[in-house]
Amino acid sequence: MCRKGAWPEPLIPAVWRGFIYLAGASAEPSWILETYQTIKMTPTPTFDLTNCMLCPRNCGANRAAGHVGYCRVPAQLIAARAGLLQYEEPCLIGSKGSGAVFFSGCNMGCIFCQNHEISGTDPGAALPPGKEITTQELSQAFLRLQEQGAANINLVTPTHYLHQILPALETARRDGLSIPVVYNTSAYEKASMLRLLDGLIDVYLPDLKYYSEALAVEYSRAPHYFETASAAIAEMVRQCPEPVLDADGQMKRGVIVRHLALPGQAEDSRRILRYLYEVYGDQIYISILNQYTPMPAVKKHPLLSRTLTEEEYDQLVDYALALGVENGFIQEGGTASESFIPVFDGSGL
Ligand code: SF4
Repeated sequence: MCRKGAWPEPLIPAVWRGFIYLAGASAEPSWILETYQTIKMTPTPTFDLTNCMLCPRNCGANRAAGHVGYCRVPAQLIAARAGLLQYEEPCLIGSKGSGAVFFSGCNMGCIFCQNHEISGTDPGAALPPGKEITTQELSQAFLRLQEQGAANINLVTPTHYLHQILPALETARRDGLSIPVVYNTSAYEKASMLRLLDGLIDVYLPDLKYYSEALAVEYSRAPHYFETASAAIAEMVRQCPEPVLDADGQMKRGVIVRHLALPGQAEDSRRILRYLYEVYGDQIYISILNQYTPMPAVKKHPLLSRTLTEEEYDQLVDYALALGVENGFIQEGGTASESFIPVFDGSGL
């Protein structure tokens, strides 16, 4: 079993010492993609935005009338940036980067959010900042990213825009979008809503943030997070049951579950890793993140005001290796920095 740091240098970018493979999956991908999933062309379901129940918050907000629920956005589609992003797992960035579209607002609202500028968690902000666009313009942004050489379309925090993302994806597929689509989510999702994406999403990239109910409530005000997120991940794995990588080691289909290790929460992290490996084994990839960065809102928090120590992270990686995890990613040092957060200036939209 290989340890962190045992991988050949080319896997570690010279400037950004980011993700590396936990085991040797990059060397010899076991699957070669031959066809994409069948393109879904069914009528888009209608959503009642006068009584929004899109996500487990079940706010019942009348978004159609301009009101907002927990996610802080009305019915309009608001996004903050579309561009090529290098800071993702190596199987998602290809040669030019992942085509990331950052959506404004969020249904999680973690107190330590790195994207607090656009998530809507900043106190006093009326609406999260971003550019209002139509579903047609979103669809065109997808196609522009493909023209720029994006390895995939990476939908970042998409949950509360499902009603617009579905038609935008179907239009883009019809107009020539052929790269994989990645659904990058907190996993605080309804499995029933995810079923609507069956056949449209190629790679699911959910977080699994907390095992503990107390942590989920304290840090994200998200009751029943673990049972909700684990049911959502089960639906994602049902849709994408095996990892599929091309000859260059790029993921064309599959599920990568991310876990951001938080300072002082080693036991919770171990429970997450144990759960994922016992339930899914090597059906999924597990990505263990060390990039936790204290944001201004938690500078005085007794636990969240510091970064993860190298020792804490190494012990967690050792635990994953001892479990037998082979399909995984770990991060090399130097990733806890605000400088890795993109500029949210509406570019690319
Ligand atoms: S999508 Fe937003 S408004 Fe709708 S239930 Fe979720 S948090 Fe509430």
